[in-house]
Amino acid sequence: MASANQFDMQNPLTQYPQPKFPEQPQPVPGLASKMQPVPDHGETSYQGFGRLKGRKALVTGGDSGIGRAAAIAFAREGADVVINYLPEEQPDADEVVKLIEAEGRRAFAIPGDLKSEAFCKELVTKAHAELGGLDLLVNVAGRQKSVETIADLTTDQFDETFKTNVYALFWICKAAIPLMPKGATIINTASIQAYQPSETLLDYAPTKSAIVAFSKALSKQILPNGIRVNVVAPGPVWTPLQTSGGQPQDKIVEFGSDVPMKRPGQPAECAPIYVFLATQESSFITGEVFGVTGGNTLP
Ligand code: NAD
Ligand code: MG
Repeated sequence: MASANQFDMQNPLTQYPQPKFPEQPQPVPGLASKMQPVPDHGETSYQGFGRLKGRKALVTGGDSGIGRAAAIAFAREGADVVINYLPEEQPDADEVVKLIEAEGRRAFAIPGDLKSEAFCKELVTKAHAELGGLDLLVNVAGRQKSVETIADLTTDQFDETFKTNVYALFWICKAAIPLMPKGATIINTASIQAYQPSETLLDYAPTKSAIVAFSKALSKQILPNGIRVNVVAPGPVWTPLQTSGGQPQDKIVEFGSDVPMKRPGQPAECAPIYVFLATQESSFITGEVFGVTGGNTLP
């Protein structure tokens, strides 16, 4: 389903699969390799031009979905990459490591749970040591579990979603900033949910608003360090986050039908904005939020 590369001109409405999709429950966090259709992370399509030559990148959630697409694109642009993910996701992570190494770049896999502050610190320290520096911090990991009513939303879930999506971001940024040189960039991942929250994502949607506000504040605070901070806010994208509990299965069948493009985005369609925000090309851009939404525009 992938195009020959990301520059081939074609109709975006028919470029990728449209609903209906089969129901396909998997235990959280789910594997991309088990999805039907398998998502396009740019494995065969992303063409790089050395725009990140020699850069050293840490990508959380780099095993699957949007993080995998960013990791592949970064490697094709010449970066060495550390990916973080949960231990259950090792099969997806192994594929990403192979793809990065196939580009002649160095890949390091550091699994672990970002809900732990100690692990977040350890991840940054290890990534910095393995890579021999840290130029690009790309926070993509996230958790989303839909719950019908506030009565059924537990404190444990509320806590887990905030720990994964917001606290981890804080802990990782805090550990990374002192290690990052001038010209480094941080890219965080929010969502259209920060602006147009769904009724069943009462915990997840506010984590994404928090990521937007945190990133804007941080961008101002660390600009004197020569570090830029930007945010990508995707609309519906075909990833395990969605098919493994992010949406109820009946919504997976129709997933993407309610955006103007009438289809979900593919992870590969998110990668170019991460690359742009990582490169020096975006030098005058900080504290901004970029939508990748299939037409459901951000405010
Ligand atoms: P994904 O499931 O492929 O990626 C999410 C990753 O988060 C997982 O692969 C996992 O490695 C990581 N993760 C979750 N909990 C973790 C934990 N406790 N410790 C360590 N890692 C953990 O799905 P995706 O859709 O590519 O998600 C990536 C980001 O994009 C998330 O922040 C998500 O909120 C955001 N997003 C996704 C969509 C969408 O429709 N798919 C839309 C908007 C925003
Ligand atoms: Mg995954």
